[in-house]
Amino acid sequence: MTSVNDLRSSFTQYFVRNGHEAVASSPLVPRNDPTLMFTNAGMVQFKNTFTGVEKRPYSRAVSAQKCVRAGGKHNDLDNVGFTARHHTFFEMLGNFSFGDYFKAEAIDLAWNLLTKEWDLPKHKLMVTIYQDDDEAMALWKKIAGLGEDRIVRLGAKSNFWQMGDTGPCGPCSEIFYDHGDKVWGGPPGSPDEDGDRWIEIWNLVFMQYEQQADGSRDSLPRPSIDTGMGIERVAAVMQGVHDNYDIDLFKALIGAAASATGADVAGPGNRSLRVIADHLRSMSFLIAEGVLPSNEGRGYVLRRIMRRAMRHATLLGAEEPVIFKLVPTLVREMGQAYPELRSGEAMIAETVKLEEGRFLKTLGRGLQILADETKEMGEGAVLDGSSAFKLYDTYGFPLDLTQDALRSRGITVDQPGFDAAMAAQKAEARKSWSGAGGAATDTVWFGLADRLGPTEFLGYETESAEAEI
Ligand code: ATP
Ligand code: MG
Ligand code: MG
Ligand code: MG
Repeated sequence: MTSVNDLRSSFTQYFVRNGHEAVASSPLVPRNDPTLMFTNAGMVQFKNTFTGVEKRPYSRAVSAQKCVRAGGKHNDLDNVGFTARHHTFFEMLGNFSFGDYFKAEAIDLAWNLLTKEWDLPKHKLMVTIYQDDDEAMALWKKIAGLGEDRIVRLGAKSNFWQMGDTGPCGPCSEIFYDHGDKVWGGPPGSPDEDGDRWIEIWNLVFMQYEQQADGSRDSLPRPSIDTGMGIERVAAVMQGVHDNYDIDLFKALIGAAASATGADVAGPGNRSLRVIADHLRSMSFLIAEGVLPSNEGRGYVLRRIMRRAMRHATLLGAEEPVIFKLVPTLVREMGQAYPELRSGEAMIAETVKLEEGRFLKTLGRGLQILADETKEMGEGAVLDGSSAFKLYDTYGFPLDLTQDALRSRGITVDQPGFDAAMAAQKAEARKSWSGAGGAATDTVWFGLADRLGPTEFLGYETESAEAEI
């Protein structure tokens, strides 16, 4: 069986053989982009190389990048436990060309890896292109021998990529794998495309234009390539399973979660086991980089992930901290590829255990209150914002935890009401503080709190960004 660890090296070695420099994953907390909460794609560490601001001693690179999509523009938190293909933490395999090869070679390299090196059957694959990209259409026909029925033209929303309002941009091509008709879902572009039958495994971005502020686009003199393939998705394909959560790595994590909670893997608690296994990875990798649970910024995203996992452990009957016990399994599975897990193991486990202890004190009581308040509610009902705020404020329930808890019953939360209750409380706190300390102290204290927040990320300098994989 091709394990996740085998796939990572197989991908890297293939591109190294084809003249690419192996570049290590950059941190999840981006160093070169303060606007980005977490690194969410392989290209993030190369942004300045694509724009030409930064020069590197190579023009082709390959990486396996740690990604988190649990906040901001790309947020897959709510998909976890509901789709076969989304995680909050995942690894993105990618090859990059900085003004070196372009569309024809990128398509050739990708197709050759999938169908020759990895031997995937051609009839299981199909691709999407940007609607106007006739060049990509011709290349897919010529290089892959695909018929037009296997090449779908899609609009800008899914198949045109832009770095920002200005800068490099261009059409994309996504490669999909068909898991067969036992799984619900339609091909890309069809009304059922959100199902899990046709799964997007690889995205090729052809950066060929420069977007100008006035809305015009110029052709780049030396176009570039950026690709991304989720390792868990391609592992599922290579291991002959349909679901990412059935690959070797997730089997180990879910197995550990099942024995720590006493839950049955095949039982009704399966969704909770998936959530715990997924969230274990994001929390551990974030803590390994020095992000700590807190009430603001990155630390709050981490806290939300941790507490959501903890609620799911409670659903499985846990009354004591259990998630921290899963850390050694994760380190065993991923510690060789990511040594920060090994060196941070004790700290990760301790941080998780502390947060579990803290939250378990109020979790049971909060869940009881939630159950009481929604007792009479049926599908389509809305929980008022002030109740959700009370759960947040008194019992430490992040809003999305309350939403997650109600989702399976079809109940939603009045979010504007929640936000209003939060704003009112902040205003109240400011008022009473200035009463006690005077306006000057007030401004300084809140100014500091807003600027710094309790989120501190240590360890920036302790990791080398570009060590060999
Ligand atoms: P999808 O449409 O399935 O949500 P995407 O188009 O948002 O995927 P990209 O932004 O193109 O994904 O990222 C490149 C690749 O990374 C995808 O082709 C997929 O293999 C993988 N990927 C993206 N999001 C996730 C996720 N949340 N969990 C696991 N793999 C992911
Ligand atoms: Mg997505
Ligand atoms: Mg997509
Ligand atoms: Mg995509």
